Amino acid sequence: MKLVCLLGATGSIGDSSLDVLMQQPDYFRLHSIAAHSNWKKALLIAQKFKVTRICMFDPEAAKALSSALGHPVLVGIEGLQELASEPEVDIVINALVGSVGCLPTLSAIQKGKHIALANKETLVMAGPVIQEALEQNPSAFITPIDSEHSAIFQCLAGSSNHEVEELQITASGGPFRTWDLEAFKNIRVQDALNHPVWNMGQKITIDSASMMNKGLEVIEAHFLFQIPYNQIQVVVHPQSIVHSLVQFQDGSLMAQLGSPDMRIPIQVALHWPERPKLDTPKIHLPTLKTLDFYEPDFNKFPCLALAYEAGKQGGVVPAMMNAANEVLVEAFLKEKIKFIDIAKHIECVMSKAPQINSKLTLEQALEADQEARTLVQSLI
Ligand code: NDP
Ligand code: MG
Repeated sequence: MKLVCLLGATGSIGDSSLDVLMQQPDYFRLHSIAAHSNWKKALLIAQKFKVTRICMFDPEAAKALSSALGHPVLVGIEGLQELASEPEVDIVINALVGSVGCLPTLSAIQKGKHIALANKETLVMAGPVIQEALEQNPSAFITPIDSEHSAIFQCLAGSSNHEVEELQITASGGPFRTWDLEAFKNIRVQDALNHPVWNMGQKITIDSASMMNKGLEVIEAHFLFQIPYNQIQVVVHPQSIVHSLVQFQDGSLMAQLGSPDMRIPIQVALHWPERPKLDTPKIHLPTLKTLDFYEPDFNKFPCLALAYEAGKQGGVVPAMMNAANEVLVEAFLKEKIKFIDIAKHIECVMSKAPQINSKLTLEQALEADQEARTLVQSLI
């Protein structure tokens, strides 16, 4: 029986994770949960799963939840880090959204835990720092929840990197794949939130519409699998059935297929290398008939090109790009900027990123995150 800490329990990945845990009562018990401010949902989860170790990032929400439960509730980033490092916890599912996920991931690594990682921003912001922490704490390890990375993880299945020619990350293309570039200046919030395949949190849904999500995933893949950027390609695949592929040196192209259902990669991340039964929709190929694949359009989706560029430049550039994107997505959702301003402002922030000549430190990554937030506010 493994004890699980679920950070981001009230979100979309949180929901899917709870469903997987519920289907696997012989393997897992929920030990602790964290969220930002949705204390009413956290209360329901706490009652249903009999969890008493809880963190609400927002102090007011922590107070409200604490009085509803009649016992203390942790608060803030320290609370998230405390839950991620508790000795009883075997697995930390990091389903937080945004760069706030970075420090709890590090805390869990430092305590030698298994981290099932959905929070891609952790690796984008501080990939080299996470890598170093993993080297220093050899009992700690990360299994990816992001569906593309789960697919690559399953296709690699222990192969050596020198056998890999390239990783092919699939992308649905989002709601604007077939739109003319001319129409991009009129994109409304509801258009961008209308993802054709996946039902996800708001931030990643906007990232999918701009294809920044795919850019973040390229950087995530680089750090997870230690593959150079020129060996990571993006392939547009609107049906989201093939979740990613690995082209091996011998000509074999391995793919992982499945219904677009995040419970599958979550279960893989928790159980690998075992595959117990999970109640999810199964694929019947003759029903699908065709699967389509296209080259990505970097003109229509400049965020994808910017993310490749940030990854290749390294240093603090990915952290600044990521933080700027977080602020801009929020501004777009509040209708303070246009959709096309997201890429424009990110490019501007990236052009102001300082060069660093040594290996990225945590302090530099955190500082760059803050600096980018201030910079981009002045652009908005
Ligand atoms: P949601 O917006 O649905 O959920 C985010 C969760 O994080 C909520 O529980 C939220 O709490 C919590 N949270 C946000 N900020 C804080 C904070 N400062 N402190 C504590 N908790 C916080 O996001 P998703 O579930 O869609 O995504 C989570 C992560 O997984 C992202 O990094 C995303 O890129 C990645 N991912 C998501 C996929 C998906 O299908 N949804 C697929 C692949 C990756 P509250 O509810 O209180 O705001
Ligand atoms: Mg993904």
